[in-house]
Amino acid sequence: MINSSLKQLAAQLAAKKISSRELTQSYLSRIETLNPDLNAFITVDAEKSLMQADAADKLLAAGLGGVLTGIPIAQKDIFCAQGWRTTCGSKMLGNFIAPYDANVIERFNVAGAVNLGKTNMDEFAMGSSNETSHFGKVKNPWDKLAVPGGSSGGSAAAVAARMAPAATGTDTGGSIRQPAALTGITGIKPTYGVVSRYGMIAFASSLDQGGPMAKSAEDCALLLNTMAGFDNRDSTSLDRPVEDYARDLAQPLNGLKIGLPKEYFAEGLAPDVAQTIEAAITEYKKLGAQVVEISLPNTQLSIPVYYVLAPAEASSNLARYDGVRYGYRAPEYKDLTDMYKKTRAQGFGAEVKRRILIGTYVLSAGYYDAYYLKAQKLRRLIAQDFTDAFKLCDVIMGPTTPTTAFNLGEKSDDPVSMYLSDIYTIAVNLAGLPGMSIPVGFGANGRPVGLQIIGNYFGEAKMLNVAHQYQLATDWHQRMPIL
Ligand code: GLN
Repeated sequence: MINSSLKQLAAQLAAKKISSRELTQSYLSRIETLNPDLNAFITVDAEKSLMQADAADKLLAAGLGGVLTGIPIAQKDIFCAQGWRTTCGSKMLGNFIAPYDANVIERFNVAGAVNLGKTNMDEFAMGSSNETSHFGKVKNPWDKLAVPGGSSGGSAAAVAARMAPAATGTDTGGSIRQPAALTGITGIKPTYGVVSRYGMIAFASSLDQGGPMAKSAEDCALLLNTMAGFDNRDSTSLDRPVEDYARDLAQPLNGLKIGLPKEYFAEGLAPDVAQTIEAAITEYKKLGAQVVEISLPNTQLSIPVYYVLAPAEASSNLARYDGVRYGYRAPEYKDLTDMYKKTRAQGFGAEVKRRILIGTYVLSAGYYDAYYLKAQKLRRLIAQDFTDAFKLCDVIMGPTTPTTAFNLGEKSDDPVSMYLSDIYTIAVNLAGLPGMSIPVGFGANGRPVGLQIIGNYFGEAKMLNVAHQYQLATDWHQRMPIL
């Protein structure tokens, strides 16, 4: 059962072969066994989850269930869920009980899904290895010496270890796709504005986007159907007609034009990842796709641009953690200024402080033009690269990450080398495009490799179709780590 698709679980629930309580309980038991070692969850509250499961069972008994009714879903601890501790991986919010639901949580509640618990993450979603969490590192279920990726490392590990049938993540520069790749699961970052950011704790607001993480593209499509939609409480939410993201799954790929950016296959890409990606492309050719070489000439600029803009937005967003309204407050201080200083010095970890300092610097009067304004102009050029490329192809493909999962501790003292692990994912956020990662094999060390699929704006249904057809022909997405 732990390897069942969401559709299979929904069918079992609808046929009363299993109740949501039993299903939820079985995942809670698996979490109890595996989580002490993997550390994928920050908060588990069996009583709360089972209460939701009972409510779902009533809906199902009345024949009122939808496809997600009664299905347990792990929620990244960046989404506020009413009555649940919501920490964002930080000591600053270590004691914060959310008084309201994020739009994404609200939508899952309306669908009758069960909140299975809150997953571990890099502090305020800043990181690529899940090592900056105040609640400790997460281990990669495929190899416990390896990182699971970040920042949605807890969600990725939870799905990979089959502690949850599905999870949510957020992606500011790669945080859904990179951990999905490193743990052998499927994850999609939608077009910016498709999923509401209301109640999703802000990191870099012009880049942050929530999305699903699951075993397959089909599961992701079903989850996205629930997560996406207009929300007037998020000023960047897009008011578009409701879409069925699963509508094109069955389309054959004959004639599909796949663009391969030459910059994504250049120096820096590990040979074992390159080989595995090439094998996946060969499979796509068998499925009827054609390959065209494209160029994204400003790829090299995406990391420097991101590390000006994301910290700038973060320094502003994180100003709210002042020890006054909610969250951590230093226990001892002399006066108000001292309280602010001590609270922020004690409440934030090193990476978050580094970002706040960089962000404050690039926004300061003397440096704004040289850094922030310049980065905004380059962001436009990076987006234009994709617009030009999509004149030649339907989707873009390449590796999600330059290497398979690196070892825990390997990059923690070298922020720049850590930042470089997002080289293929970050430009997608800067352009606001949708991107996803699917498992396509294993590298030399037996750790998973992810193929990135980048779509044009609002191309989610097409991307999910492209991913699903591959998953019909292969079984990488069904592989499980031995635990
Ligand atoms: N690794 C990138 C960072 O540290 C992206 C994180 C994310 O997407 N949330 O900022």
